[in-house]
Amino acid sequence: MTESPSIFTRIVDREIPADIVFESDDVIAFRDIAPKAPVHILVVPKTAEYANVTELAAGDPALLATIVSVAQNLADEYAGGEYRLIFNTGQAAGQTVFHVHAHVLGGGLEEGTLAQ
Ligand code: AMP
Repeated sequence: MTESPSIFTRIVDREIPADIVFESDDVIAFRDIAPKAPVHILVVPKTAEYANVTELAAGDPALLATIVSVAQNLADEYAGGEYRLIFNTGQAAGQTVFHVHAHVLGGGLEEGTLAQ
């Protein structure tokens, strides 16, 4: 049985629309459809091979480093350079899409809070 493509693969393939703010050979970034902060961008590797950040770190650490670098560049452009980087890992932690992605949150976040 072949698994159906993730919603993020469908965005990469332009099957569904998204507000794309960055794209390279390896990575795509677009605004979260349900933003939890004034700036809320998802940075997603185009490959669907890794379900979460632990798998990505083990399987392709350079790609994880690329995601962090893209996150910084987007924060520089849209959030004054400072940001919160979240990788929800597992259903109980709030992960709903099992195609690894980083949430880049910025713009007027409260101090000392971890929740989105
Ligand atoms: P997570 O809960 O960490 O798996 O994050 C999945 C995120 O994807 C959520 O914040 C959703 O709001 C976001 N999301 C789901 N569908 C779309 C979409 N079509 N375009 C943009 N963001 C989406």
